[in-house]
Amino acid sequence: MEEIVNIQQQFFKQGHTRDVDFRKEQLRKIKKLLNTYEDDIFDALFADLKKPVFETYETELLILKHEIDHLLSNLSSWASPTKVSGEFFNFPSQNYIHPQPYGVSLVIGAWNYPLQLSLNPALSSIAAGNTTIIKPSEHASHTSRLVTNMINENFEAGFLHAIEGDAEVTQSLLDQPLDYIFFTGSTTVGKKIMHAAAKQLTPLTLELGGKSPAIVDQSADIATAAKRICWGKFINAGQTCVSPDYVYVHKSLKKTFLQHLKEYVTEFYGDDPSQSPDYARIINRNHFSRITGLLEDQSEVIGGQYNEEDLYIEPTILPRADWNHSVMQEEIFGPLLPVLPFADLDDVITTINSHSRPLALYLFSTDSDNQEKIINEIPFGGGCINDTVAHLANLNLPFGGIGNSGFGQYHGKSGFDEFSHQKSIMKKSGWPQIPLRYPPYEGNLKWLKKFTDLL
Ligand code: NAD
Repeated sequence: MEEIVNIQQQFFKQGHTRDVDFRKEQLRKIKKLLNTYEDDIFDALFADLKKPVFETYETELLILKHEIDHLLSNLSSWASPTKVSGEFFNFPSQNYIHPQPYGVSLVIGAWNYPLQLSLNPALSSIAAGNTTIIKPSEHASHTSRLVTNMINENFEAGFLHAIEGDAEVTQSLLDQPLDYIFFTGSTTVGKKIMHAAAKQLTPLTLELGGKSPAIVDQSADIATAAKRICWGKFINAGQTCVSPDYVYVHKSLKKTFLQHLKEYVTEFYGDDPSQSPDYARIINRNHFSRITGLLEDQSEVIGGQYNEEDLYIEPTILPRADWNHSVMQEEIFGPLLPVLPFADLDDVITTINSHSRPLALYLFSTDSDNQEKIINEIPFGGGCINDTVAHLANLNLPFGGIGNSGFGQYHGKSGFDEFSHQKSIMKKSGWPQIPLRYPPYEGNLKWLKKFTDLL
């Protein structure tokens, strides 16, 4: 750990990464590698999560390629100093903000989108001119191995390097003198990462999880709501940080909504989803037991079949869930969808606001007053109106959490900014020398007040 951080520090000092063309060349190289390794990537994701090829392309590869293209188109302008206006008290002066790389950054990935969540923050880090160490999640072991081989066989270790390992390895990395830490994972581990970062006051981003609600009000197009919630919930078998964790549906629509949901589950995955090539599996036995355990206090389930050998859990709707049940006490992170009725939107707002701040929220509504109310009255990371999950694909929308769902943002320009220190510079000439600001101050205060009153 010490050696790799040392090598990266030396590489950073040599100044290669300050050159924007160098950064672009590396980004192009990663894009090329994603094409070269495409089949291996499909295989690794299938081995880890039985992830359908389409989902791997859509939610891992495409997101990375789109990010690279966006960075290549915009990097030169983002990396240039931005001129800002001066102010009277420092007239004449020129004022600039210079985005500067931090130095050596560490990217710690999660297992649910194991390629994308390891590489996407690394792309922002590279674009901003940092050297980067990637620690993919050990739980997606095939993808972790592939990412490590792909990176370490093709890049100089001083610039970009991947290290495989578990919590202990990550902690040893965190003991090193890093310049930036970017963590994706659970809130519990996020707190440990922040604790480790605090020892050296290392700046960091925490991309965490939580219970992200979907709300379907009386004005919603109910079939569209059911279809898009069904898609956002069961993609990757519910193991998506921004998947709708549970649904609040207006009580007058609950029956129709459940009917539509059931129909879409069948339309998407067939009568027996265990036979569908389009439905992923749970990452490991620990998570399998955790998720199936959440079914124990449910009086009614729609679906609910599972098979431990295959790590399969059927897309399952929980029409009688309430906040006293274990499924509502923690982030589900699996294919169980509690559906709760509501009568008054204000009660929904009060309830959501009495829990941890969600990473995402989805409102299905055609009522603009309700849309505004939800946006203004509930703090959450980001979300959609009349869709789920899709907001994270727009690179013009910063992506990140708030409160327990994390802090800091990335994707597109926000990722570049996240990995850059904004260095503020005021440039002056030797003229003029305003005597007012220099001691001795006697008599100066009244002039200072006169000037400021005039302004
Ligand atoms: P996790 O917190 O268990 O692990 C994430 C990473 O932290 C792994 O690389 C792991 O090796 C490392 N780690 C684990 N324990 C550690 C410790 N004690 N010290 C140092 N490092 C440690 O998370 P996970 O299970 O991989 O991911 C699931 C969670 O991540 C969910 O809560 C989900 O919502 C969240 N998530 C968030 C986003 C986002 O973008 N906000 C994306 C994906 C997942």
